[in-house]
Amino acid sequence: MDPATIQSSTPKIRQVENSCLFCRIVAGEIPATVVHRTETTLAFRDIDPKAPTHVLVIPVAHHPDVVALAADPSAAADVLATAAAVAEKEGLTDGFRVIFNTGTHGGQEVFHVHAHVVGGAPLGPMLAGK
Ligand code: 5GP
Ligand code: ZN
Repeated sequence: MDPATIQSSTPKIRQVENSCLFCRIVAGEIPATVVHRTETTLAFRDIDPKAPTHVLVIPVAHHPDVVALAADPSAAADVLATAAAVAEKEGLTDGFRVIFNTGTHGGQEVFHVHAHVVGGAPLGPMLAGK
């Protein structure tokens, strides 16, 4: 359910934490394999990896998508810095991709913005079928 649609007398921040999968991972309510952590970001392995290395990098603060993240330049910079740190930590010296799926056409499924850091093997064409 969209957090904004929840009718409740509890504070909004609590509603977001309760209903957002990745806020719940930040809160430690749902387990994840964390590979890197900063004050403002968290990086953890994707539960269904699409490449030998597939790590999700999120801001600790809830932003639904990359458009909202762009309105918080400090958080956006922190997410990119963590993506770079993950690539280094995972030894992706031959290259990697950083992907922000956004909205319906982008195939976004979890509406807490996340950068997919994928690599560890040649990744093929940029888009399926192209
Ligand atoms: P999106 O399609 O929104 O860009 O990507 C969401 C990603 O989150 C998918 O790659 C999916 O495998 C991953 N994912 C979904 N649920 C969980 C979960 O509970 N834990 C982890 N670690 N990853 C998840
Ligand atoms: Zn969230």
